Amino acid sequence: MIELIDTHCHLDMPQFKDDLLDVIVRADSAGVKTIITVGADEESSEKAVELAKTHESIYASVGLHPHDAKEFNKNTEDLLKRLAKEEKVVAIGEIGLDYHYNHSPKKTQQKVFSRLLSLAKELDLPVIIHSREAKADTLKLIKDSGITRGVMHCFSGDIDMAEQAMAMGFYISFAGPVTFKNAKRLQEIAKTIPDEYILIETDAPYLTPAPYRGKRNEPSYLLHTAKQVATLRGVKLEDIARITTVNAKRLFGIGSLPEEGTIAYKIRDSLYLNITNRCTNACTFCVRFHTDYVKGHNLRLKKEPDIEELKEAIGNPTEFKEVVFCGYGEPLLRLELVKTLAKWIKDKGGRVRINTNGHGNLIHERNILPELRGIVDSISISMDAHDEKTYNSICKPLVKNAFKAVIDFIKEAKIYIPEVTVTVVDVEGVDIESCKRIASELGVNFRLRKFNIVG
Ligand code: SF4
Ligand SMILES: [Zn+2]
Repeated sequence: MIELIDTHCHLDMPQFKDDLLDVIVRADSAGVKTIITVGADEESSEKAVELAKTHESIYASVGLHPHDAKEFNKNTEDLLKRLAKEEKVVAIGEIGLDYHYNHSPKKTQQKVFSRLLSLAKELDLPVIIHSREAKADTLKLIKDSGITRGVMHCFSGDIDMAEQAMAMGFYISFAGPVTFKNAKRLQEIAKTIPDEYILIETDAPYLTPAPYRGKRNEPSYLLHTAKQVATLRGVKLEDIARITTVNAKRLFGIGSLPEEGTIAYKIRDSLYLNITNRCTNACTFCVRFHTDYVKGHNLRLKKEPDIEELKEAIGNPTEFKEVVFCGYGEPLLRLELVKTLAKWIKDKGGRVRINTNGHGNLIHERNILPELRGIVDSISISMDAHDEKTYNSICKPLVKNAFKAVIDFIKEAKIYIPEVTVTVVDVEGVDIESCKRIASELGVNFRLRKFNIVG
């Protein structure tokens, strides 16, 4: 059963006054186990807190929408401050800038936004940002505030804005519009945001996703937005559910997160084995250095798993398209374990792939590829650069002559393993065309990986 979190809706609105309980029950049946109802003024913030008190699955956020910035006074600030200290209040918001309607003068909006950012900072709460046609000022005021935890709710900006927001530690949240046929630009953004920064929401009762566009929106419809985001990113609904739920829990401090690293996890139809966190590279783009999570799985191991634990975690290897040895690190550091387990998987009829940095022969000071013959079907080797100098500056290898060793490793792999793919991460300074040429000269497949998209 999937679990989703609607990180933004307005359950206090009159549109829900007749059937709120039904709405909550329907959300639960659709897998939306947690809902954050967001205050947009004094009254709705009070109601949001009330709803959180009376419903197990509801959390609240308190704030003042930029439309109403002109109503802001000392009492508003005192009230929001008092409410924000209530249990189950998880954020300050929505707050922000809206230069599309300008219901409040720009200067007033900016002043109030800054005040409420300071309040969030003082209370150590994340912020929920509404920003419409106000990119530069929104980013500037967030930066000036020093706040590093928040979400750009119902994101409608461009990719540059998303990148700047993420660089400040902000999540990017997608709502119903991502399901609209004409939302090509937004869909492109939803494809490329790294997993660790993506959230979903309904903004109900507004912005109803397809196929219910035109009707009142409600949290159970989050499922349609989740499905669309999964389709755009080429993953399954359960992947997007896990990723966005972990993200929401981390940002808002709701519920519990897996404390221990997972040793086997599914992405699409493959099973990935996380056998080590050690590596002989320290790549500048390596996700190990800034998060414990890949596609919503905690991969930070307290101890490396042994073979029995791994067999138990795999169960029946034929249930997966392939079993992939990887790790938040270099799997061939544990060569003996890889060999024994790969043979066990093959004997049971499974398919084996290894994702490696190609340092295997350097690490073991011998050609290990003949030892993998017959037990490994496919190998992905990270080449990551077109020459040694670039490799050293990007991958920061802890071993000498690594680039040459990787090239030699690819050549040997070609002899002993049926399917060999060379991968390159699309980072600045890498000559992708040269990398392609090297792969083709070596007679192996080539795959370009997007920077910041793992798995
Ligand atoms: S080779 Fe992989 S695990 Fe090792 S540092 Fe580079 S990206 Fe990280
Ligand atoms: Zn809203």
